[in-house]
Amino acid sequence: MPQTQSATGSLNPFAIAQAQIDEAAQMLGLEPALAALLREPSRELVVHFPVRMDDGTTRVLTGFRVQFNTARGPAKGGIRFHPEETLDTVRALAAWMTWKTAVVELPLGGGKGGVIVDPRKLSRRELERVSRGYIDAVGGILGPDEDVPAPDVYTDPQVMAWMLDEFERLHGRHAPGMITGKPLSLGGSVGRGDATARGGAIVAREAAGRYGITLAKGRVAIQGFGNAGAHMARLAQSLLGMKVVGVSDTHGAVHDAKGFDVESLVGHKRDTGSVKGFPGAKTIAPEELFALDVELLCPSALENAITPEIASTIKAPLVAELANGPTVPEADRQLHRRGIYVLPDILANAGGVTVSYFEWVQNRSGDVWTEEEVSARLDRRLSAAFARVAETAEERRIALRTAAYLVAVGRVSEAERLRGRV
Ligand code: NAD
Repeated sequence: MPQTQSATGSLNPFAIAQAQIDEAAQMLGLEPALAALLREPSRELVVHFPVRMDDGTTRVLTGFRVQFNTARGPAKGGIRFHPEETLDTVRALAAWMTWKTAVVELPLGGGKGGVIVDPRKLSRRELERVSRGYIDAVGGILGPDEDVPAPDVYTDPQVMAWMLDEFERLHGRHAPGMITGKPLSLGGSVGRGDATARGGAIVAREAAGRYGITLAKGRVAIQGFGNAGAHMARLAQSLLGMKVVGVSDTHGAVHDAKGFDVESLVGHKRDTGSVKGFPGAKTIAPEELFALDVELLCPSALENAITPEIASTIKAPLVAELANGPTVPEADRQLHRRGIYVLPDILANAGGVTVSYFEWVQNRSGDVWTEEEVSARLDRRLSAAFARVAETAEERRIALRTAAYLVAVGRVSEAERLRGRV
């Protein structure tokens, strides 16, 4: 079993992911063989591939693809390009994808991929060669019926387009359903861009209604201002009627008690590369963002952001985890004890994979849905998933995260049993 604490002192996300599975397995009374099967990835591939750089030199990069569980359907999960990517991070993310697809009842399993590379230091042509090189290396285990990747941290629709083209070139046929998060003109779905944030906003709305928290005219703070965070800022305003009073990115955090003009803030980030220095906003320390007086807090950056020290400063009654694994387990227990509702990542950020699933369905059927259709279907699925998790939490008097795991692990267990694999 991996150590929870790594040599550098940071928490190992896969150890956390396995501890979460173990807890659910124990609470569900799973037989030992099934519990053992569910806590390990069913397949993992580590590749080393060459990439020609613009200066004529060749770099050898390391990449991963992990298929954690495919009992309910093809593996599904994003590809991250990150300088500190590790196999254990990819394993953890692949496990979380398995529970995420199960909790929203998609007929898919869970997977994840990554390349150890800093895309900010690559030219556009180098980024294209990394994207194609990765598919050349792992493409053998991908496909619409096997394993379907998508964008994640530092990968985007253009990267998906290059990956699709490389896969189709290798196979000599169209295969739009082999990857999601594609540009619209290559079979992407409307509504994918803001789907993760929209899902988070839907689940936050449902939770607020159930627990008597008023979000309209309330305040929200958002850590991370990328795909998930920036769209959440827009939707918190437009869908939930909230004021965005705090945001942060890798460069720093800003606060404005009156609420930001979100479109200007997005423009400032686009023009300067950061939310920092936004006219009229007060610069605050990154950790102060979590302590702001708000109704909703959205960690939307990377894992392990909410430590016990940070958790003790949180004032928000509702936390929606748009990032994967942002709350460390001890902090999570502390928030539950304090009566703060934490909408767990596998539910709160499942909007992205849900619209990815819609994209895959459209690609396989040849149909094209409208934005209204996508939003309405997303709303129905996530509202139903939240209701099921909330009922489980209330019946068993447990935290929403534990309840989400019981629902998800229960569904995957049922699929494994029906297949007769255990
Ligand atoms: P992104 O690269 O678009 O944005 C990440 C943002 O986080 C950037 O603004 C970056 O500056 C900021 N950031 C990084 N480290 C930070 C720190 N220490 N403090 C403050 N800000 C920091 O990535 P994304 O797609 O928005 O993903 C963010 C999180 O959401 C990840 O955990 C990802 O796995 C999860 N997620 C994303 C999607 C999706 O559809 N994009 C779906 C599900 C989950």
